[in-house]
Amino acid sequence: MPEQPITQATEFDPEDEYRPEPEPEPLPPSWMGGSVRIGIHTSIAGSYLNALEAARKLGCNAVQIFSASPRMWQGGPARIPEVDAAAFRTRRGELRLGPLVIHANYLINLAAAQPMLRTRSIQAFHDEILRALALGADFLVVHPGARGEATTGQAIATIVESVKQASKGVPLGGLKILLENTAGMGTAIGSRLEEIGEILAGLKGLPVGACLDTAHLFAAGYDIKSEAGLASTIGQIDGALGLENVPVFHANDSKVELGGRVDRHAHIGKGKIGAAAFARILQHPRLASSGPEGLAGRAFVAETPIDDPGDDRRNVAMLWELAGLKEQAPEAEKGFSMLTAALKRKLSSRRAPRAQSPHRKRKSLRGKSKKSSTRKKARSTAKKARRRG
Ligand SMILES: [Zn+2]
Ligand SMILES: [Zn+2]
Repeated sequence: MPEQPITQATEFDPEDEYRPEPEPEPLPPSWMGGSVRIGIHTSIAGSYLNALEAARKLGCNAVQIFSASPRMWQGGPARIPEVDAAAFRTRRGELRLGPLVIHANYLINLAAAQPMLRTRSIQAFHDEILRALALGADFLVVHPGARGEATTGQAIATIVESVKQASKGVPLGGLKILLENTAGMGTAIGSRLEEIGEILAGLKGLPVGACLDTAHLFAAGYDIKSEAGLASTIGQIDGALGLENVPVFHANDSKVELGGRVDRHAHIGKGKIGAAAFARILQHPRLASSGPEGLAGRAFVAETPIDDPGDDRRNVAMLWELAGLKEQAPEAEKGFSMLTAALKRKLSSRRAPRAQSPHRKRKSLRGKSKKSSTRKKARSTAKKARRRG
């Protein structure tokens, strides 16, 4: 090789200036390639990486997590150490899991009129956004909040303002904030699709959309069980939100009847919505993850109860089966569950003394528990969460 002439660097070349490491390139969204995306909410207990491994072992190609304890204001550090976030992003890329959905803390009430709670909620949601960005999430799902004494109109205005404040000055990049519909318990906003639509309209210009929970739709009175009801609900979603703005569905069966207005998830096919309806939903061309009528990368994520070891794996398998893709589904690890027999024993021995407490009945009536595994720490502060209504 001929020697290169040595150039005299007499002037400062701006190219030589030290710059911090560039932001990691966003993952190529292979999950938007048109394949059906099915996931489940997995636990970050122990390590963020555990959630990814659980998703893989459960036979998912999409995943949802909390980025901190969901029922504590300070459920761990507000920021994720970059070394952990980087390891998570790398592993997620290797496993080709996508989309990555993060569910925000349940204590956040973006509709809160009370100044202290509102400030806290905005701060906590701001932290949620930063953690979602650090983990390279595609979607951050949040409940609109409870209006309390305020009117629905006032609450919607408050929610819009809260989301704007929480995301102020933060470049969201590829992250989209999704407002989730609710079952209509208490004064919760978002049981009517029009309410979600109004919030999204108020946030025009920001990357926002909706996450629709099948159990919440049903409990709120949208009859997705019947063929005609599904057709009409899809029409209503289109009218109020636009189906192209719904990249994530929470796929949960419902323990309560149509219009029951209570948020109680059931195993897929075992609740009041039923298997036939889920097959129609999962195979509906307008709800597809691709195609002329679908939306590339749209995901169905289960938040089903885990009463017994294996329930998580069985619900994921059921979703694949009802989607008509049993053969193409990623292989699950035989016998794997986030709830082990030992953990179940531990949890039920902790639950036992509480059964005698006078609050027990109230708890079961309000029953907000979605993910019954890995609640350990969260459980002790669950009482706080229930104040939210
Ligand atoms: Zn939710
Ligand atoms: Zn729910």
